[in-house]
Amino acid sequence: MVLICLGLEGTAHSFGAGIVTDDGKVLSNEWDMLKPTHGGIHPREASRHHSDLGPSIIHNALEKAGINYNDINLIAFSRGPGLGPCLRTTATMARTLSLKLDVPLVDVNHCVAHIEIGCLESSFEDPVTVYVSGGNSQVIAYAGGRFRTFGETLDIAIGNMLDVLGRELGMGFPAGPIVEKIAKQGSNYHSLPYSVKGMDLSYSGMLTAAKKLFSEGISIPDICFSVQETAFGMIAEIAERAIAHTKKQELLLTGGVARNNRLTEILEGVSERHGVQFHRVSPSLAGDQGAMIAWNGILQFKAGRTIEISDSQVLPKWRTDEQDILWRA
Ligand code: AMP
Ligand code: MG
Repeated sequence: MVLICLGLEGTAHSFGAGIVTDDGKVLSNEWDMLKPTHGGIHPREASRHHSDLGPSIIHNALEKAGINYNDINLIAFSRGPGLGPCLRTTATMARTLSLKLDVPLVDVNHCVAHIEIGCLESSFEDPVTVYVSGGNSQVIAYAGGRFRTFGETLDIAIGNMLDVLGRELGMGFPAGPIVEKIAKQGSNYHSLPYSVKGMDLSYSGMLTAAKKLFSEGISIPDICFSVQETAFGMIAEIAERAIAHTKKQELLLTGGVARNNRLTEILEGVSERHGVQFHRVSPSLAGDQGAMIAWNGILQFKAGRTIEISDSQVLPKWRTDEQDILWRA
């Protein structure tokens, strides 16, 4: 019998519902993102977006998958890390469905889910993962029963840096793809802070410096070009060092910023230099979506792990390396 899992993702401004089977087929993956009209994401507005649209997104996911509520064997939800109100709204929907359908509930670490959906797609077994998104920038690898964070941003994430910079430069949201497009027209490199501290990164100084370049009259294409080269070079350096230390043979790029072709090109270069395989997660599975939550739900369920509703309070600060990875043991 095939096992069918409904996964709900709602850590930040996107709400997603994905349906995945235990043989790794993504039957559907529906989502919607709140686009703020001005300023950044307000957690309360994002959670309202999730509660307003969540039920219809779940409904559409079932319809696209061609199944009924009664076909669902398992409910998985993003327990953290993320914005408290968004996590709570999503968890409430997951708990309700678990009770109503009388099926087990599984809690999923959002970052771990990004890694495992990438492994499903690429058939990678044990990669060094570069996970770059609106809220996270981490280089992760499995060691001793957990996904260890080898390096990460000490302040803001790459995606957030691009979005905030884009806002200052008059671009729409999300700005990452616009920055990528405009950067192609730039060619003059202007120096920006290259802040790699050990295995960690810092992007807030770059944001300030890039804004200063703008006020000095440097062209937007040149700013975008300089920001991309510096920001991506920094994370590539850490990924390269992680490969050299761990001697792993695979390099995986995931998260919303994985859609960037220039970052992909730079990491491809790293993988070629080290003779390791490279995979960039396809756009539909790269950003925040429910299929990755559903797939991780299945991995955990098969390893014998579910959670009681009374223990399922959300974990806004849940770190990647705070979970025992039972299914890989
Ligand atoms: P996520 O948080 O995983 O849903 O990813 C959203 C983030 O990815 C936002 O910060 C976007 O600006 C960023 N993003 C999406 N496409 C691109 C791109 N082509 N280049 C750079 N950043 C991107
Ligand atoms: Mg994410």
